[in-house]
Amino acid sequence: MGLFRLFRGKRHQPPSPAPPAAPVSRPAPRKRREPWLDHGLHHGAHVPCARCDRRLRVALQSPSSVTVSHDGALDGIVLVCADCGRLLCATCALAASDNPYLPRCDGCRGNVTLPMSR
Ligand SMILES: [Zn+2]
Ligand SMILES: [Zn+2]
Repeated sequence: MGLFRLFRGKRHQPPSPAPPAAPVSRPAPRKRREPWLDHGLHHGAHVPCARCDRRLRVALQSPSSVTVSHDGALDGIVLVCADCGRLLCATCALAASDNPYLPRCDGCRGNVTLPMSR
């Protein structure tokens, strides 16, 4: 009788090829100016309107709850141009626009918005 040997070698699972560890080099997003965020204003501070020099109160909005109403609630509240960062009162911003519901910057015609906190 011959010896019948079964070679049961341990099956070596071939190592699964590792995913190519290519360095993820995604282009850095262009740093966009965000005047409504980078305004350096403090909530409750007072700043003058860039156009009429009226004293305005800084009412920073939280980014999660942006409710911009133009029904008079903005009276005395500072607005910031989203393009050039100019600080305006609602009266001047509305005077610079031909749309009574769309205040604009009197300098660059950009949209104005309420300054926000980060
Ligand atoms: Zn003004
Ligand atoms: Zn502007």
